[in-house]
Amino acid sequence: MHLDVDPVKFLSERRFTVLFSGGKDSLAALLWICDNIPHRDWNVVYVEVTGNTHPACNEYVHKVISMLGLEERFVHAKREDLDFFEGVKKWGIPLIGQMRWCLYQFKIKVWDKHSHLTQVTGIKRSDSNRRSKAHLIEYMRLGKSVVVNPILTWKTGDVLDYIREHGIPINPCYEMYRHSGNCMFCPYHSKRKIALTLQDPYWREKIIGALRCVKAPRSESMRRILRLWLKHDGQMPLTAFMQEK
Ligand code: SF4
Repeated sequence: MHLDVDPVKFLSERRFTVLFSGGKDSLAALLWICDNIPHRDWNVVYVEVTGNTHPACNEYVHKVISMLGLEERFVHAKREDLDFFEGVKKWGIPLIGQMRWCLYQFKIKVWDKHSHLTQVTGIKRSDSNRRSKAHLIEYMRLGKSVVVNPILTWKTGDVLDYIREHGIPINPCYEMYRHSGNCMFCPYHSKRKIALTLQDPYWREKIIGALRCVKAPRSESMRRILRLWLKHDGQMPLTAFMQEK
């Protein structure tokens, strides 16, 4: 279900939460809110994915919030009762649909506690096939929330230009890993991101250690992602090696 109304008008008439991950797109969405929404009845929620977020991402987010003067309406939240890599050992590789437990367990459940019903995200239609069908304002059944996507039609270059115009630095994790570091392990990381992430000995040990405990992956997609990460570590198990052949 979606609404065809002006997002500035829609957000100007209600309280909402900006979901900031430390990534470039959610930063652009946050800056857009600062530029376009006249009232101050909104907050910013940042979710650290317990055990899977790089400390540099946390530090960067706090720095941006301070630069924008948003400290009083900022929430840094995380699950205290569950570690991401315990989840990997328990549930396997997270995937799209019901099996993407990471989004539900580590983001949606935490957002629920700190967010208003209306949430602003930095998703773009150019991100993926699935997102190409997204709308400016839509109702999300999984999170039971109304989501507003103000930069939906922007391209990556628009995002970078907008951030540059505001004089805000980019998360330093992009320089090191080509991703924001909010999720060091992610089933959607490209080969390049995987290779750079696994060059870091701390994360290599943590990620590969957990992946080696994943019991008999249930689907071919899970097996493919597992092979991709283990291949980059240079230590594929024999069974995975045989399937690659
Ligand atoms: S970024 Fe990746 S690992 Fe993190 S919640 Fe999203 S899909 Fe899961």
